[in-house]
This record gives sequence, C-alpha cells and structure tokens, in this order.
Amino acid sequence: MSTVSLYEVSPRDGLQNEAAVLPTEAKAELIGRLVGAGVKDIEVTSFVRPRWIPQLSDAAELVRMLPRVEGVRYWALVPNRVGLERAMESGIRHVATFLSASETHNTKNVNRTVRESLASVEEVIGVARDDGIEVRSYISTVFGCPYEGDVPVENTLRIIERLMAAGAQRISLGDTTGMANPRQVREVIARVVAEGLPVESIAVHMHDTRGTALANALAAYELGVRQVDGSVGGMGGCPYAPGASGNAASEDMVFTFEAMGIDTGIDLEALAEAGCYAETLLGRELPGRFHLYWKGAHARAAKARTA
Ligand code: MG
Repeated sequence: MSTVSLYEVSPRDGLQNEAAVLPTEAKAELIGRLVGAGVKDIEVTSFVRPRWIPQLSDAAELVRMLPRVEGVRYWALVPNRVGLERAMESGIRHVATFLSASETHNTKNVNRTVRESLASVEEVIGVARDDGIEVRSYISTVFGCPYEGDVPVENTLRIIERLMAAGAQRISLGDTTGMANPRQVREVIARVVAEGLPVESIAVHMHDTRGTALANALAAYELGVRQVDGSVGGMGGCPYAPGASGNAASEDMVFTFEAMGIDTGIDLEALAEAGCYAETLLGRELPGRFHLYWKGAHARAAKARTA
C-alpha cells in the first residue's frame, strides 16, 4: 500500500504566526491530541531567544511536559548553537534548522546573509549529529520570494549540497509565502533529485496563501516525496499578508491522500477534533477547508438533534 507521512507543525509554525499566547498546558494538550490522532512527527516548539517569539518562550517547560510515546518524534526548531544546546538540555532528540534560498528573505528573517546562516546551520548539524540527534533542514522561499520574486533553483541546489554534506537527514523545501504552482514543484523536485538528493530525504512545506498548497503537495507526492508538512486547521497565518491563509491544512491533505487510497496512519476524525480544539484555544476561526466542512457538518447534526 502507498503511504505518506504528515509532519505536523502547528505547535511551532502555527503558533509562531498566531497572535494568541497559549498556556503551556494547552499546548501540551494539543500535542497530546495530535499524538492520539496518530501523528508521528510533531514540531513542538522553537528554541529561539524567548523575547523574539513570546508565543514559544516556554519551549523547555513544554518539552518536559510531553508524554513519551513509542514511535512518536518531537521536533524543535533551533536557530543556532545556543538554541541547539537549550533543546538538548530539555531532552529533545530531533531538531530542525532553517535558512532561506533568497538573500533578501534570509536577511529580513534572521539579519544574516545566506552564507552566514549556512555556516551557523552547518555547525548546528555537526554538533547535533555527533550527539546522535536527528536533523531536518528547512529551506525557505525555494519556489519564490516575496521580495525578490523568482528564486533560481541553483540557490537551493547549492544549499542542499552543503546541508547534506554537513549531515542533514531530511530537507524540507518551503513555499514560504504560497507562490508555488504544481508544474514548478515538479520541475524543482525533479531537478533536485537529478542533482543527487534522494527523494526519500525530501519533504515539502507548502503554504495555502493563494489556494495552491494541496495541489502542490500532491505534485510533490507524484514525484515520490513521502513526507508533507501540515498544520492542523491551517493554523498559522501568513506573516506578510494579515488575514491570509498560511500553512497547508493537515486535515485537507490527510483527507485527500486517504481518499486516494494512500495511507497516512492518521485518524482523520481525531485530527479534525484536534483542529477544533486548536481553534477554541486561539479564539479565531481557522481557515482549513476540511476543518470548516467538519465544523459545518457537526453544527448541522447538532441542530437536527435538538430540532
Ligand atoms: Mg509554514
């Protein structure tokens, strides 16, 4: 049977891009519900300097609160060596690094050139791998940059070569502001694979800013990619366009893959319930399409019962 795995980013990428600051217990509860739905890879927080992202300033406390479950991997984003060390102290054994394929985006995001970020990320990967920690590396703006427009695939290829040489085990290709289209996704992935990156090492991180996340994720799947990043309910807006959709909604992808006979290992109803829980916590309606459908169907069912 064909399979695809979901890498759930809502507790980190979702919350980082939401205004609400949630209590640590609520985050742990959300993560517990995601685990209950069958999600095996969850990016739970980020070890950036607490004052940079107040929503995630409880990183170490949260990690210590999480239940250890066989087969479940909790990932943390680490910006640099100091962040990696804090993550390791908390007990994290899976880390994600990040940098951008576009110079302007990278500079605006972390106030460093791509070259400077690469050196820092290589150091993080080396230290982590020496300690037996698993590493996934995000590359942002692979399919377009909000400042520069088109991003040459050569930028991505150069970065991938360095990340793999340093020991990164998976590369997540990011469509950071939802600019990609399925044809471009096919072209970029085909090129990256042709240049030597095994397709098993690729994940895609699509954004639904313009409604293309699901189509792009499916295009990646068709080329052999077997891990997709998603955020329950589509949690996490787009930082460049207030009110716009951001992360690909996990339920939309799980529904579609399962409907196509591709096993995700996830209980869609339980995942949808986790999305509704997240929405209650945030106090704003989440944009995921399956999420909205699910809520509507339940509201109608409840109305029918009381009528
Ligand atoms: Mg994202």
